[in-house]
Amino acid sequence: MPELRGKGLDTPVQWVKGVGPKRSVVLATEGVVAVRDLIYYFPRRHLDRTTVTLIRDLEKDMPATVVGKVEAGGFRISKRRKYYQMIVNDSTGFLTCTWFNGADYIKKVFSVGDKVAFHGKIDFFKGLQMIHPEYDILTDEESDPLHTGAVIPLYPSTQALKSVGLDGRGFRRIINSALDFLEDNREEFFDEELLTGQGLIQLDDALRFIHFAPDSDRLSQAMRRLKFDEHFFLQLLMALRKIGITESKGRVMSKVGPYLKLIYEQLDFELTQAQKRVLKEIRQDMGSPKVMNRLLQGDVGSGKTIVAILAAAIVVGNDAQVAVMAPTEILAHQHYGVFESYLKKVQITTALLVGKQRSSERKKILEGIAEGRVQVVVGTHAIIQEDVRFKDLGFVVIDEQQRFGVMQRGKLLEKGFNPDVLIMTATPIPRTLAITYHGDMDISLLDEMPKDRQPPMTRKVNEDTLKKVYSFMCDQVEKGRQCIIVYPLIEESEKSDLEAAEAGFEYLSAKIFPKLKLALLHGRIKKEEKDEIMDRFSANEIQILVATSVVEVGIDVPNATVMLIENAERFGLTQLHQLRGRIGRGSEKGYCILVERKITETSRRRLDVILRINDGFEISDEDLKLRGPGEFYGTKQHGYLKWKIADLVKDGSIIREARKAAFDVIEEDPHLTLAGHEKIRKRFMRDYQHMLPMVNVS
Ligand code: ADP
Ligand code: MG
Repeated sequence: MPELRGKGLDTPVQWVKGVGPKRSVVLATEGVVAVRDLIYYFPRRHLDRTTVTLIRDLEKDMPATVVGKVEAGGFRISKRRKYYQMIVNDSTGFLTCTWFNGADYIKKVFSVGDKVAFHGKIDFFKGLQMIHPEYDILTDEESDPLHTGAVIPLYPSTQALKSVGLDGRGFRRIINSALDFLEDNREEFFDEELLTGQGLIQLDDALRFIHFAPDSDRLSQAMRRLKFDEHFFLQLLMALRKIGITESKGRVMSKVGPYLKLIYEQLDFELTQAQKRVLKEIRQDMGSPKVMNRLLQGDVGSGKTIVAILAAAIVVGNDAQVAVMAPTEILAHQHYGVFESYLKKVQITTALLVGKQRSSERKKILEGIAEGRVQVVVGTHAIIQEDVRFKDLGFVVIDEQQRFGVMQRGKLLEKGFNPDVLIMTATPIPRTLAITYHGDMDISLLDEMPKDRQPPMTRKVNEDTLKKVYSFMCDQVEKGRQCIIVYPLIEESEKSDLEAAEAGFEYLSAKIFPKLKLALLHGRIKKEEKDEIMDRFSANEIQILVATSVVEVGIDVPNATVMLIENAERFGLTQLHQLRGRIGRGSEKGYCILVERKITETSRRRLDVILRINDGFEISDEDLKLRGPGEFYGTKQHGYLKWKIADLVKDGSIIREARKAAFDVIEEDPHLTLAGHEKIRKRFMRDYQHMLPMVNVS
């Protein structure tokens, strides 16, 4: 279509040869509106020599793509269940494909003689089979990637797309025409130097090869380039946020002040090298006019709290106030307890501010904060919002794994504060996730445990072997040790869970440990009662604490050596690891016992990880692999990344390279004003600028 020569990639997709008005309406439902969208509509999969497995090479449990011909298909009935089975042949062997649900529908999808690519995990049941595989019905020209050596792109086609002829072949045609637009519109935004330095191919080539690669090498080069781009712009965003935060004026807290030394001298342990190093990093941030924006990562038990307390002491020594935020009220109470116990010894005034306080009490605390008499406030997120006015807030400590929202920093700025911020994560975050989601922060690592700690021993038991465990617990108690038994209670509102914990408690008290002192702890127990139970547990007046998962983050009784987790299959990996961190906090060896009652495939894999690995960072890596980044962080966190090809789990080295490249660019040219960066700037403005925080750089 010569009249379209010179038209940009923003041209409506309707004008692409072969699209037209009818198809463009359906494409719009897939988000494909302009020519560029079509070019960036990447294949869902590629078939080639490197991705297709011959049936004779299949093994049980392996995920595989098989290309074969449908030989026969039919319904079967077993145990009153109707299912559909198909036999597929690729000339090296036979594979059975089985569908239990939607069998009637599936029957209509395939005809004998169809060439199909099946994707799924290999099972073995009277021969090789795939259950509910994904599939792509192939045209003749597609069906032979093994012999032709070609790379076949498969597009995510829907019923609606197919109804307007946009099946595999249809898609390839229109994409081919869309790619013609690239000839007059170079998409490239990197200069030669960066491309060579990073070993990247040209973007325009990458866009062609991702659709039509002459061979698998060029396909992987294309993928690397396109992944790099997505990570690069996200890291550019992080770099810009970071200078936006740190360039804004912070206070200089250069005094050491009297409190740090006083608390330090009263510690009954020596700080680990890692704690000392992190404290130094924090002091450097505080002493500089840059605003601190730091993430403190450390495994459970690595001693994050004392680092935060010492940091708070420095701030108070510089006549500023500190806010400590916990994700829940229970945790706020616990933190308050720890902070206060250290701070009151040096005459620093600490206050707790939570929702459930009498209004007269609340009023008094608010006044104290406004007048500066209260130097450290511990509470939930609410303490830096709403009606709380600080005299001079200099430092915010946040204890939670989710990041401190960009908006919250914005709120603080509105109040006229630009405090240093330290975020402590209860869960170590895999490195790739950390630099993706927290890439605008500096990261401090507590990668060393206090030295008298021994790693706990972890074992899995079932109902039959539980009796032995109970007698082991009696032995431990006889030696003066204490035990914790945890029942799952995922939400405080789950009534049946609570009943199970209560019933378990009754049974254990009466039948298993009649001579010992037990207590039951859960979220519905009143605070005074809870405190009393915890005090008595600390004093070893209670030997066995039965609890719901409220203990996950908070119990700190070094004498507790056994943690028995009931229905361990119901807990997540992080939760299990956190629970295990509650024991072996003293010098005695800890034992973590997982009672598995209902086995599923995924729960078995989770428990295997906990049995095998002690290190929180490794566990979070495994967690990421098992669950994927979306769930790991909750979908909300993930939602702002509309990635087409990047993959947090697999792109580790690309992410690091892209980060380095992006930060180098911003260091050289913080406002992207150099001529060589114009195209990067344009692209950034178009796709990412709205994600920059509203930080006033003043
Ligand atoms: P977490 O990193 O899980 O928050 P905590 O700060 O709660 O860990 O510390 C766990 C326990 O270890 C606490 O009882 C704390 O007093 C103790 N602790 C912290 N640092 C050290 C150290 N350097 N040596 C010995 N014990 C320490
Ligand atoms: Mg802690």
